[in-house]
Amino acid sequence: MQNMTDSDLRDAIQFHGHLCPGLALGYRVAKAALRELGAERPQDEELVAVVENDSCAVDAIQFITGCTFGKGNLIFRDHGKHVYTFFNRRNGRGIRLSEDFRGFEGDKRFEELKKRQDAGEDVSRERQTYLMEKAGAILRAEEKDIFALQPVESLPPQEAKIRKSLRCSSCGEKFMESRGRVKDGKIICIPCSEK
Ligand SMILES: [Zn+2]
Ligand SMILES: [Zn+2]
Repeated sequence: MQNMTDSDLRDAIQFHGHLCPGLALGYRVAKAALRELGAERPQDEELVAVVENDSCAVDAIQFITGCTFGKGNLIFRDHGKHVYTFFNRRNGRGIRLSEDFRGFEGDKRFEELKKRQDAGEDVSRERQTYLMEKAGAILRAEEKDIFALQPVESLPPQEAKIRKSLRCSSCGEKFMESRGRVKDGKIICIPCSEK
């Protein structure tokens, strides 16, 4: 059970901009992953996260685990699934967490709110109440009631590569070599190739 006043939870909410069920889920996932992999918040790139969605949860994961797009140790696979896999390069351990929260199963409120909203009613206040309740329930639940957790054997994805950059012969801006396009025998960037 999590304490709602945990300072890193407060900081994660501030980073994300609001508390919501997704942020709560990402927070619980990140905390469990760090514990299971014996990792402190990584300064470098020893921890790698593979996320299978781009929801609010990923903000908590970036903030709590230090796996970020910018460092190259956050990998996005667009599967639309609340599945999160983490690897610790330092000790070779890996863990996969798949969300299976059933706390609000059978709760018809969300569907009803959606129906009323579709009919033109302003349900924003009730929707917010519902989302806060759900976020709180996720923060308080036992881990086993939020996600399934299993060790992973496969190797972590490759460390971020150092890449060469080229200059676009159309707009003159630089871009990553692997993103180049060829048009009329000239190497150009993607935006120019789409013009
Ligand atoms: Zn959110
Ligand atoms: Zn260009």
